[in-house]
Amino acid sequence: MAQNAFQPLQGMSDLTDPELGVWRRIEGKAREVFARYGFDEIRAPILERADLFERSLGETTDVVTKEMYSFTDRGDRRVTLRPEGTAGVVRYVAGRGPEAQDARLYYIGPMFRAEKPQAGRKRQFHQIGVEAIGPPDPYADAECIALQMRLLAEWGLSDCALQVNTRGLPEDQRAVSQVLRERLGPRQAQLCEDCTRRLDMNIYRVLDCKQERCREIVAELPPLTEFMCEPSRAHFAQVRAALEQIGLPVNVTPKLVRGFDYYVHTVWEITHGALGAQDALSGGGRYTLRFGQKQIEGVGFAIGVERVVAALQTKAAQAESCAQAPELWLVSLGKEAIRQNFALLEQVRANGLRCGMLFGGRGMKAQMRAANKSGATRVVIRGPDEIEKDLFILKDMQGGGQRTLSRQQLENELDVN
Ligand code: AMP
Repeated sequence: MAQNAFQPLQGMSDLTDPELGVWRRIEGKAREVFARYGFDEIRAPILERADLFERSLGETTDVVTKEMYSFTDRGDRRVTLRPEGTAGVVRYVAGRGPEAQDARLYYIGPMFRAEKPQAGRKRQFHQIGVEAIGPPDPYADAECIALQMRLLAEWGLSDCALQVNTRGLPEDQRAVSQVLRERLGPRQAQLCEDCTRRLDMNIYRVLDCKQERCREIVAELPPLTEFMCEPSRAHFAQVRAALEQIGLPVNVTPKLVRGFDYYVHTVWEITHGALGAQDALSGGGRYTLRFGQKQIEGVGFAIGVERVVAALQTKAAQAESCAQAPELWLVSLGKEAIRQNFALLEQVRANGLRCGMLFGGRGMKAQMRAANKSGATRVVIRGPDEIEKDLFILKDMQGGGQRTLSRQQLENELDVN
């Protein structure tokens, strides 16, 4: 069998313990913080109709044109593995009655983008995100940014950098596009191949290009807010004032637009210095999306879990995951010991303890090695002698000592019955 038959697809990973211990801690803390801010969970499907993303993210965005895993399902419907979480949540909200008009929802789960895999860029990655549905209000935007910064700080990442900008209203975006066309058109020859196409298709995407030469040209443009109407500028000023009021002053990043077309008003990105080239931990913004007769407005963010884990790769974070080590391990010599330990295993687990035992009829040495590797603090050893007398050897893996106990003594010791 080819070697790669044992590997997951490129850009995808088998996630296992002990690293998953860090993931559980991240997710657990997120749920706790979301409850504090009044968000409920949604688990939307991972597979959706392709046109949901095409319409919501924008037909000419990189994700839609190059990165979606789309295929035709059993009928002739085109479906897509979700590349992001907002479209599905907004679809759900649009399908509900007035009770969902101020919905506050969070999600945790996998996303799929067929990007070129590289460090920090996966094809299956995981996001933790929120959507706060409701009409534009600078306080809602500021609250969403504050929630995200709080979450990152409680995970142990208070050393993040926040970049904020505004995209203004859709009418501002038309005015800004016009200015961009005038300024960038004459420089077409200097832009990358993708951006020459973007000039006609979706000029905003030039602002988001990662190529060095395009970034230099973009840096020379004036701040986009100069071409926006007064209400848009006022909205943004109020967001900044609200953030300042709660101790989160922001440096405006005047060319930040983010990768999807649904954004209006405030957009932001959070980076972390430890991450290298792919340094974005998280991004968010205010959006407006039309579903049939309904226009859904809201503000939200998505945090990349892999990148949070990478930024957290510290000893302390790793150590916490060891809290999942078994409290007891059972070692058996001979068939009858296996039979009886199997019942003890279930009894101990039923009493709420983490307990392990190696199957496969392996020898004493292999079983002790497994006990050691598991990190169990105590081991029960039983051979034919102990079985005959209904005794149990209890070995302390940290101190090294051992005692022989009766069944009653063992049950008292472990607090099981
Ligand atoms: P986006 O949905 O593009 O705004 O991304 C939000 C966050 O998800 C980013 O800041 C990253 O932390 C993470 N992310 C996006 N794409 C990937 C990817 N291909 N691999 C790993 N993480 C990603």
